[in-house]
Amino acid sequence: MKDLLTRFAAYYRPHGRLFFLDFSSAVAAGLLELAFPVAVTIFIDRLLPTNELGLIVLASLGLLLIYVVNAGLQVIVTYWGHMLGLRIETEMRRKAFDHLQKLSFGFFDNQKTGHLVARLTKDLEEIGEVAHHGPEDLFIAIMTLVGALALMLWVHVPLALVTAILVPVTAILTTVYGQRMTQTWHALYGRVAEFNARVEENVGGIRVVQAFANEDHERALFAQNNQNYLSTKLQAYSVMAASMSLSYLSMRFVQVVVMLAGAWFVVRGDLTAGGFVGFLLLLNVFFSPIEKINSIIETYPKGLAGFQRYCEFLDTRPDIADAEAAKTVARLDGAIVYRNVSFGYQAEKPVLTQLNLTIKAGETVAFVGSSGAGKTTVCSLLPRFYEVTEGAILIDGIDVRDMTLKSLRSNIGIVAQDVFLFAGTIRENIAYGRLEATEAEILEAARRAQLDSLITSLPAGLDTVIGERGVKLSGGQKQRLAIARIFLKNPPILILDEATSALDTETERAIQQSLAELAKGRTTLVVAHRLATVAHADRVVVIEKGRIAEQGHPLELLDLRDGRYRYLHDLHAGSVARQ
Ligand code: ADP
Ligand code: MG
Repeated sequence: MKDLLTRFAAYYRPHGRLFFLDFSSAVAAGLLELAFPVAVTIFIDRLLPTNELGLIVLASLGLLLIYVVNAGLQVIVTYWGHMLGLRIETEMRRKAFDHLQKLSFGFFDNQKTGHLVARLTKDLEEIGEVAHHGPEDLFIAIMTLVGALALMLWVHVPLALVTAILVPVTAILTTVYGQRMTQTWHALYGRVAEFNARVEENVGGIRVVQAFANEDHERALFAQNNQNYLSTKLQAYSVMAASMSLSYLSMRFVQVVVMLAGAWFVVRGDLTAGGFVGFLLLLNVFFSPIEKINSIIETYPKGLAGFQRYCEFLDTRPDIADAEAAKTVARLDGAIVYRNVSFGYQAEKPVLTQLNLTIKAGETVAFVGSSGAGKTTVCSLLPRFYEVTEGAILIDGIDVRDMTLKSLRSNIGIVAQDVFLFAGTIRENIAYGRLEATEAEILEAARRAQLDSLITSLPAGLDTVIGERGVKLSGGQKQRLAIARIFLKNPPILILDEATSALDTETERAIQQSLAELAKGRTTLVVAHRLATVAHADRVVVIEKGRIAEQGHPLELLDLRDGRYRYLHDLHAGSVARQ
């Protein structure tokens, strides 16, 4: 807890002047609120009886001046105070996003997108509010309470004592209900998160939903979430209604009792009329911090809980990061060695065991094997998307863990089955391969990926918007875009993981040409489920259950009577013959 507050306080450090300006203005504004009751008391008791109009006008002008100053202070508190909160919020968001970029595949495998998004938006917004209002509200509330009480004592000690006895009733009532409010809000946030996740998943998968005509099912699921939200929020409102009216009633009750007592003191000649009115006004000022403290009790835990989640997030160490002594490698030749590599996504479930493989620079190696055998996994270890649990992977004799991630990955290009495209234009998506590429370079990459005829046929050309994830492109066009991106990147090592598996045979054949051109002069790891596409490989590696079952030149492997490759080949040939 103390730790958390220290960490929170650290975010104020760069904004010391802003904090001082905001805090002192808020304090001054709080003090000036106390001026009105005092002014009224003086007005009625001292000024009115004198009948001096000039003095009364002067006093009124003085009061007006106080209000003008107060209005100015409020501008400062509202604008600069929120600026303080906002600066802290945006700084935290920047840090969180930075951190997000560093986390590895393993982290994202186990996350819900909606929750991550909520952390970067809602949580931080709440923290920002607390960052602004937190310290000053608490201080002002306490100060106003003390100030109002002191002035009440100044006006009339016995009446002040009566008030001091009654007010705790209101305070306790408000606090108890405040706590219940906090609990219901908490439940409500859970509901909101649930249905945000539902909407997100639905929108993301809407094409699947409609293809299966499962709209009714989705509607029912959503209706349930929506209903949960409704009932939880209604509950929150009922607590809110009870709390508001009860605290209102208790305040007014106190007011009436104080009024009666005050009237009694006035009748006895103990209290002046001005003192009486001033006291009632002070009572109102007195109530406001109680309400404020109540809202503090509500927002503090929320902000603090958000900050705690934020800290936990920042504290998740990326499982894969640059080693202390990591070196930036320049362009590699691309000689790859897997040495005794073992790996599992979960510790108790090994996926690769004791894998040994040497790939020469410029060689094309094809991985075949049944689905789930570990082909993709072999490829994912090379750019360190996941970390080997045993053994090592070396490129040009250097352990990949001794290179910086940035330089390692800049040496590897990947085209996989499902291409992720960004929602922008064709140009932006190709340029993602090398952000600083020129127009000519982008066009050249497009040409080599055989995208040029598409681009010239589009009215907007390179600037055609391709829709979210490239929905406006065909499967083949998406793959070509992914290929163009790699042409632009021009890495010495290439991974083609079922790059054409989702395409029809004709498109596949056309794209094979581009891929062959892309593979020229690069070390290439190909995973393909159609054996025809691996026939040109220098070597085929058959992976079974996370081990290398056999390897050799495709023709060589075909000669092995009981070989796995031959078996797969015959299976494939059979299915082709039957077509
Ligand atoms: P292949 O590409 O040969 O079809 P993969 O390398 O994708 O096979 O998968 C090998 C095994 O690892 C499978 O049993 C699969 O379920 C598991 N696996 C793949 N990716 C993950 C992941 N991100 N988290 C956990 N298990 C995974
Ligand atoms: Mg795979």
